[in-house]
Amino acid sequence: MQAEIIAVGSELLTPTRVDTNSLFLTRKLGERGILLARKSVVGDDRQILTNEIRRAREASDVVILTGGLGPTLDDLTRDAASDATGRPLVRHEWIVRDIEERFRRFNRPMAKVNERQAYVLEGAEILYNPRGTAPGQWLEDEQGILILLPGPPRELKPLFAETCMRMLDRHVSQQRFFTQCLRVAGIGESDVEQRIGKIYSGDPSVTTTILSAPGDIQIHLRAGAPTEEAARAIAEALGAKIRAELGRAVYSLNGAPLDETVAGLLRGRGIKVGVAESCTGGLLAAKLTAVPGSSEYFAGGFVSYSIAAKRHWLGVDEAVLDTRGAVSTEAAEAMAIKARERTVEALGEPAIGVSVTGYAGPGGGTEQDPVGTVFFGIADEEGSAIRRRQLGLGRNRVRALAVQIALELLRRRILGIS
Ligand code: AMP
Ligand code: MG
Repeated sequence: MQAEIIAVGSELLTPTRVDTNSLFLTRKLGERGILLARKSVVGDDRQILTNEIRRAREASDVVILTGGLGPTLDDLTRDAASDATGRPLVRHEWIVRDIEERFRRFNRPMAKVNERQAYVLEGAEILYNPRGTAPGQWLEDEQGILILLPGPPRELKPLFAETCMRMLDRHVSQQRFFTQCLRVAGIGESDVEQRIGKIYSGDPSVTTTILSAPGDIQIHLRAGAPTEEAARAIAEALGAKIRAELGRAVYSLNGAPLDETVAGLLRGRGIKVGVAESCTGGLLAAKLTAVPGSSEYFAGGFVSYSIAAKRHWLGVDEAVLDTRGAVSTEAAEAMAIKARERTVEALGEPAIGVSVTGYAGPGGGTEQDPVGTVFFGIADEEGSAIRRRQLGLGRNRVRALAVQIALELLRRRILGIS
């Protein structure tokens, strides 16, 4: 079964408003295995909307319209749906009375235009909307299902989740769906594709989607079956094969983000952590403390942004700073060791110190270490390790990616992965 969504409203075609209803509807449809083929946004124009409804109904089994059901003259969804289906609009007196009653409850007279909301496509079921004045409408004919929903999200969401989902169940097979989300760090998207492409394309019972963000790849495995447990088993069987291929680069089997994964490892093993950050300016500490309960393992950190702070707060050797610079293997190492020492003083052992120092740009950098170069240090009781990475251009991107890499290096150190 295939669906389309048409979001109606001229405001949705301005730079300041976005259609969020369709995101909600897409998620709910997905729960029943109904795929969205297309969605569109149409302004308050009767002719364009009529054409769009006609086109969508020809292409798809279910067409959902959101918005344009209000009382004002620019609310044209009813009229366009009538034009597109050739069905007249029928006035329902009980809806008029219901709207009048609501106005009475708020001690306001009902303006006559509100009666527009009492017109329903001939043959459509009325979807009672207790949170607003305009009811939804549900039409089933030889072309399929046409659903008209009010635009305000606080009205649309419960109406769809409570009433429409139940009505949809009469039409969908009793399939249930499960999506497993694997997350991967430390390898690039093309390498992931190269290594697992054959594995997932050989399994037609699972729909695989790979989403890539800087330093973080998500592999979504979606399967359908008569029960959710069966769907889960199908998805997880493929997940296990992918996991076997990618090994410990897979940091999460249930969609949990890297900060949560690292938090779980630190907590589980009783390891404490402290940081010394330069180019990330505290973003790493923010990430580590974003997880509730982080006081158990996060000691604190230095935002040692200036050279003076590296020297005076962290005791990085003046000679190192003069000859090798603040962005160097030596500086990263000294910073990580100091972060670890201070963490041990505060919370005891075992403890890990993590450092980040680099050129986020756009200025700075040297011939040898251009903008985008970042050094990472990790220090624990066995010693220290430094990594140098080239993270490309774009200050925000470099900083965000540096945080992700620092977390991944920390995870690998805890797990003993080189
Ligand atoms: P309408 O039903 O067209 O009168 O829409 C009423 C209000 O609902 C609009 O002013 C928006 O605030 C909101 N709205 C309408 N359509 C959408 C949409 N697709 N996504 C999010 N909000 C919407
Ligand atoms: Mg509108």
